[in-house]
Parts: sequence; structure tokens; C-alpha cells
Amino acid sequence: MTAPRLEVDLDGVEHNTRTLVDRLAPKGIRVTGVTKALLGSPEVGAAMQRGGVVGLGDSRVENLARLREAGVDAPTTLIRSSMSSQVDAAVVEADISLNTEAVVIGALDAAARSAGLVHGVLLMVELGDLREGIAIADVHDAAAIVGQHDNLHLAGLGTNLACQSGVVPDQAKMDQLSLLAEQVEARAGHRLDIVSGGNSANLGWALTATDVGRIDDLRLGEAILLGVEPLHRRPIDGLCHDAFTLIAEVIEVATKPARPWGQLAQSAFGTPPPQRPGSATTRRAILALGRQDTDPDGLAPPPGIEILGMSSDHLVVDVGDHGISVGDELGFGLDYSALVRAATSPYVAILPASHSPLDQPITGSRPG
Ligand SMILES: *Cc1c(COP(=O)(O)O)cnc(C)c1O
Repeated sequence: MTAPRLEVDLDGVEHNTRTLVDRLAPKGIRVTGVTKALLGSPEVGAAMQRGGVVGLGDSRVENLARLREAGVDAPTTLIRSSMSSQVDAAVVEADISLNTEAVVIGALDAAARSAGLVHGVLLMVELGDLREGIAIADVHDAAAIVGQHDNLHLAGLGTNLACQSGVVPDQAKMDQLSLLAEQVEARAGHRLDIVSGGNSANLGWALTATDVGRIDDLRLGEAILLGVEPLHRRPIDGLCHDAFTLIAEVIEVATKPARPWGQLAQSAFGTPPPQRPGSATTRRAILALGRQDTDPDGLAPPPGIEILGMSSDHLVVDVGDHGISVGDELGFGLDYSALVRAATSPYVAILPASHSPLDQPITGSRPG
């Protein structure tokens, strides 16, 4: 089978989606499934849909196009501001986009008019994380600008926390967004369809809050895919934590001296190899997997196997007592960084997990 490959347990993705959708529904919060970590994989998007998301969101217009071309029929949201140079494609591929800039909003209106469409604008509000967002005091003006454009409609408000600065989405931040939504509604004279509280980092708040106010949507990627909450990277109860496995193939196995010899300077990526006092030799394997394929710091090797280093194309491991041969496959668990890098590497195929009990690679679980 082709290697390296990222195997996806689509049932696990569906299960995680349904579990989160069911836990949030009693609070009146819907889930937009975010596919950006997987290049807008139509299989993953479809699994999220089976799990009950109201729509799919992605940060790349290209990924939304891929979902549509594959026949995934879901309302779509572009969750990063459109580039001015891409508004024509943005209004075709996305029903709604997240916005902060009047000039982009104007360009979206013009693009929507030439395409004969009405495009939804969700205004992003800056609540302290210092990534995208309009200052609270300027949101009313921005809403008024959207209202002046015939081919746009104000779909709602949103915010994004815990991305750039790790600012926690708590009750105070969500109350601010709710209050602002009510004020915008009062001036606009219509109810907003969407008040989107944030990403997977909002789950801790959303699942425990007694009053979620006007928040009625979360945009969830990592929690659905990996079953973890990103604030402390703790596993969420009842979710599947190993829906993704990165499989790589062994290209060399040898018992070598435990320590390098010769004059020592920097390695290819500047990281010194781990010191291994005690043993004279190690049984090492090299896998055809490198920094071009994933993030070595986010990999969890199978039990009894230790990662010694990774360069652009070689992953060196201590295989301990495992009887590993050239041509064997090893499977690694991944954190979000390793997952994104693997899914976006042109060298890594994304495939539904094979459930065959034969030729199962030796696998690790998600890094803790
Ligand atoms: C990536 C992203 C999300 C999803 O974040 P997760 O932590 O993967 O749930 C939501 N909203 C925006 C604006 C994003 O960029």
C-alpha cells in the first residue's frame, strides 16, 4: 500500500461529531464542521455531515470548491477573510464568509452582484486574542456598511479566541458578544441568524455554561478530528482520540553505536540527538518520513519505540526489542500540528482506515 499515508477512521469522525452535536443541542448551539486541517477532504466533510453539523467551514476557497465538486451538499462558510483577489471564487464557493474589512465587504458585494448571488457576511469581533476582528466600538458601523450593499446580507457576528494569544473564551467574553449581538439586532431591526462563539477552545465554556446567551454556533475542527480540547490539549470524554494514524515504511534497520563519532557540529535542523548513556548500541530503524511530511514533535510512536530524530526525509527511531524489518510499516498517532502538516503534504495520501485484521501496521496512539 502507498506510504506515507494518513489513515482516517471516518466512523470515529462521525461519532465525535454526533457526540458534540448532541451535547451542544440542548444549549441551542449548532456545530459548523471545520475541514481545513484536511484540505477540505470530502470524505471527512461527509462524515461530519452524517454526524449532524449544520454546515461546513474551511479557511481556503480551494477546499470549499473541492467539497462542492465532490458533491458534498452542505451550507459552506469561508472562515478566513477572503483575499480581495479571490472574491469572485469566494462568493461562488461559500454561502457565508467571515469578514473584518470594509474594502473586502465592498468587493464581495460586487462579486456577488456579477454572479447573481446574495452573499452572507458574518462580522468577526475582536475580543482580545488579537487575531482577526473588528473593535467592539466599530461593529455597528460595519453592520451598517453591510446593510448598504444589495447583494450582501448580515448573517451574524462571531469571534475567535485562543488562536493567536491563547485568550480563554469564558463567560465574560461570551456575554460581551451576546450583548453586542442584541445591540446590532436592535439597530438592524432583524434577528441575526448566527452568533458564532468560536472554535474547539470554546467547548469547555459551552458544555458547562448555565447561560449561553445569544451564542448559537461553534466552528469545530480539532475537537471533532482528534477528540481533544485545545486549551489544555486534554482528551474530551466519550470521544474517539485516534481517528487518524500516520503510516510510514521502514527503509533501513541496523544495530549501530549509541553515540555518533567524529567532530560534532550542528545537525540538519540544529537539534542535537538525544544522549543515550548506558547502552553501547541501539537497534535503529529509518522510516521514509520527514519534516516535509509532518511535524516530528507531534508524533506518538508505537509502544516500545522511541523517536531519535527527523530530518527532511528520514525519521530515525530506536526500535528496542521489536522484530522490525525493511518494508514493514509503523503507525504514529498525531497531534493537531502533525495532522495539519501530514494532511497538507503532497507526499502523504489521505485514505479511509483499512479495518482488515491482516497486515495491520504497529501503531501508536495520540500524543498526550
Ligand atoms: C481554524 C478555525 C476554526 C476551527 O478551530 P479548531 O480549533 O480546529 O476547532 C474556527 N474558526 C476559525 C476562524 C478558524 O480559523
